[in-house]
Amino acid sequence: MTNNPDIASPARTQAILNRYHLSAKKSLGQNFLTDLNVLNNIVKAANLSDKDNVIEIGPGIGGLTEYLAREAKQVLAFEIDQNLLPVLDDTLSAYNNVKIINQDILQANLPKIINEEFNNERPIKVVANLPYYITTPIILDLLKGNADFDEIVVMMQKEVAQRLVAKPGSRDYGSLSVIIQYMNNVDIAFEVLRKSFIPAPKVDSAIVTLSKKESIDTEVFDVKLFASFVRGCFAHRRKTFWNNMQGLFGKNPENKAKVQGVLDKFDINPGIRPEKISVEQYVEIANEFHSIKMI
Ligand code: SAM
Repeated sequence: MTNNPDIASPARTQAILNRYHLSAKKSLGQNFLTDLNVLNNIVKAANLSDKDNVIEIGPGIGGLTEYLAREAKQVLAFEIDQNLLPVLDDTLSAYNNVKIINQDILQANLPKIINEEFNNERPIKVVANLPYYITTPIILDLLKGNADFDEIVVMMQKEVAQRLVAKPGSRDYGSLSVIIQYMNNVDIAFEVLRKSFIPAPKVDSAIVTLSKKESIDTEVFDVKLFASFVRGCFAHRRKTFWNNMQGLFGKNPENKAKVQGVLDKFDINPGIRPEKISVEQYVEIANEFHSIKMI
C-alpha cells in the first residue's frame, strides 16, 4: 500500500518518535512493538480475515494497527493519548478502514460504539498490545458481557498471562484464574521477549487468546457477586479455606454452622487451601451460599 517500511520496523518507529519529538509515556504503558515476526504471529493467532471487525486498544503510533488494517475489514482503535492523534493520522493515512477514537477504553460504551460503527456485524474481535498498568480491568471489562466478542487476542505481561491460564494447585492459580476460566477458554498463544519493544519494558510478555465457552455446565447466580466471593476466598491464600470463609462470613456460630454445612455437602475439607479448589467447585459452592442467602 505504501513504499514506506512497516510502521513497526525498528528504524521507522525510531524515525517517527524523532520526527514528532515523542518520548514513550511510561505512565500510559507506552512500549512500542518493533518485532515484525511477533506482529505476523499476532495476526495469525487472531485468525483475521476480511470479514472481521476489529477493536484495538492503544494503537500507539500504529504499528499493530497497520497489520490489523491489512487483514481485517475494519479497525476501530481506542487511544487515550491525544498527542498520538496527529501521528496516527499521518502513519495510517494509507488505510481507509481504520478509525481512531480518542477515549479511555475503560470509559467507552462499547456496545453503543459497536452498534454505531460496526452496525452490529460479526465477527467482532479484540486484538491489542495492552497498556500493562490496566490489563486486568480491561480484560474484566471486555468479558463483562456487555459487548460480546468472538475472539480476544491480547498481549500482556507474562506473569498476568500465567495467572489467567493457571490450573488448580499451581502457584499462579488464584481468583483471576477462576473468574476468567469459569466462562472462557483461555490459552497462551506464545511468549514475547522484552527486547521486542521500544523502549524495552522490565518484563517479558505473552499473547493470550480468550473466547467464550460454547456451553457452561453450571451457571453462576450472578457473575459480579461470584467474582467478589471468589476474591474473598483467596483473600489470604496462605490460610485455609475455612479461615477465608470466616473472613467472608464472620465468626458467629450460626454462620459457621452454615459454612460447615456447605463444605460438607460438597465434600470439601475445611483445612484445604483455596488454590486446591477447582473452578467447578467454586461455582457449586457459590451457588449453594446464594441459595441459603449467605451471598
Ligand atoms: N499498539 C502499540 C504497539 O503495539 O506498539 C502500542 C501499545 S502500548 C503497550 C499501549 C497503548 O495504550 C499506548 O499507546 C497508550 O497510550 C495506550 N493507552 C494507555 N492507557 C489507555 C486507555 N486507558 N485507553 C486507551 N488507550 C490507552
